[in-house]
Amino acid sequence: MGIVVQKYGGSSVATIEKIKKVAETVGKRKESGDSVVVVVSAMGDTTDDLIELANQITEYPDKRELDALLSTGEMISASLLAMALKSMGYDAISYTAYQIGMRTTGQHGKSLIEDIDGEKLRKSLTEGKIVVVAGFQGVNDEGDITTLGRGGSDTSAVAIAVKLDAQCEIYTDVDGIYSVDPRLYKNAKKLSEIDYEEMLELSSLGAQVMHSRSIELAQKYNIPVYVGLSTSNIKGTLIREVTNMNMESKPITGLATSDDDVAITVKNIPYNINSISNLFGKISSKRINIDMISQTAPIDGIVNISFTIPKGDLNECMSILSEITDKDNLSIDEDITKFSIVGIGMKTTSGVAGRMFKLFAENNIEVKLITTSEIRITCAIKTQDKLRAVKIIAEEFGL
Ligand code: ADP
Ligand code: ASP
Ligand code: MG
Repeated sequence: MGIVVQKYGGSSVATIEKIKKVAETVGKRKESGDSVVVVVSAMGDTTDDLIELANQITEYPDKRELDALLSTGEMISASLLAMALKSMGYDAISYTAYQIGMRTTGQHGKSLIEDIDGEKLRKSLTEGKIVVVAGFQGVNDEGDITTLGRGGSDTSAVAIAVKLDAQCEIYTDVDGIYSVDPRLYKNAKKLSEIDYEEMLELSSLGAQVMHSRSIELAQKYNIPVYVGLSTSNIKGTLIREVTNMNMESKPITGLATSDDDVAITVKNIPYNINSISNLFGKISSKRINIDMISQTAPIDGIVNISFTIPKGDLNECMSILSEITDKDNLSIDEDITKFSIVGIGMKTTSGVAGRMFKLFAENNIEVKLITTSEIRITCAIKTQDKLRAVKIIAEEFGL
C-alpha cells in the first residue's frame, strides 16, 4: 500500500456537513491500507469573501497582508477536517505551510513552490496519522506567509505528491475533465485521459478546473493526476503522458475561454527595434505578462501594436505606457474573450485553423488577435460572441 495525496476543493468542503463527508471518505481510504495526506482549499467562497473584506479597507491592499489574510481560509478547513477525523476515531493532524516547510519564492499572491520539508510529513504518516495540509499557502525566505495564486491548492497537492512520491487525486465539483467547461456547453464530453501538454494549455487558457502550475509540476516529475468526484463511483479523468495516440483520434481535444484579459493598442510607434523593445521591456520590468501580440505593417516608419495583459494589471500597465507615449496613442479594449482550441492531434492534422476561421467568418464572429503554438490556436473575440463561438466550434470538432 502506498501514499496518496488527495485534494478537496472549496465546494467539497463548503459546509460542516461536507467536511464530515470528506472525513468519512478519507477515513475509509486510510482503512483500506493507504497512507493519506489531504490538501484542502478554503470553504466555499471564503477566499472571495476575504478579498471583499480587504477591499472594504482599501482598493489596493498591501500584498503581504493580503496573503496573511487569504491564507486563513485554508487553515480553517484544515483544522476542521482534522477535528472531524479525530471525532470519528481516526488519528489525524493538520499542518499549515509553515509547519511543513513549504518554502516559496517570488511575489506575494503568485508565489512559486521551491521545496517542502518532506520529513515532517513522512514522520506523521509513519506514526499512522492522516495528515491534513492547508493548501494554497507557503512561506518565503523572510518567514512571511505567501499564496500561490487563485486555485493554487491543486499545486500544493501535486507538489506534496512529488515530494512523497505519492499518487495524486484531485476531488472537485465535476466528475472529470471535459472537452469544454460543462457550465459553458452542456453537451461537452468527458475525457477518460488527457495529456499533460493539452491540460497545461487548457488550464493556462482559462479552464479553471486545474491550476496550470500543478500540471507543469506533474509533467516535470511525471506524476499522473486523477481528477473526479469523491462522492461517487463515476470514473474521472487521468492527466498523464498519453503516448498511444489513436490514429483516428480528433485533432482537437478541448477548448477553453477566458474573460480575464484586456487588449491595449499603442499607436504611432516608430518602427525600429529600440522603441519596440523599450515598450515591451518597460512592461515586463513590472512583471506584467503580455500574451497575444499583433503589429500593423509599417507605414512611413510608423506601426501600431496591440497586445493583451491580465485585467488586474491594466492600471499599472497604463501608467507605464503613459510615460512612453501620449495618451491619445493609447486605447483599451475590455470587451475581449480569449478563445482557444487545443489538441496534440493538430501536430499531424492540417486545416484546423482554416475550418475555425471559415466558421467564424460565416457566423460574423470578429477575430481581433490571434496566437498559435504547435498544439493550440487562440483568438481574441468579442465577449458577446463567446457562447455562439463555443457551440459552433464544439459541434464542428465533436467536442
Ligand atoms: P475546486 O474548488 O474544486 O478547485 P474549481 O471551481 O476550481 O473547483 O474547478 C471546477 C470547475 O472548473 C467546474 O465546476 C467547471 O465548471 C470548471 N471547468 C472549466 N473548464 C473545465 C473542463 N474543461 N472540464 C471540467 N471542468 C471545467
Ligand atoms: N482558496 C483558494 C482560491 O479560492 C485556493 C484554491 O481554492 O485552490 O483560489
Ligand atoms: Mg480550483
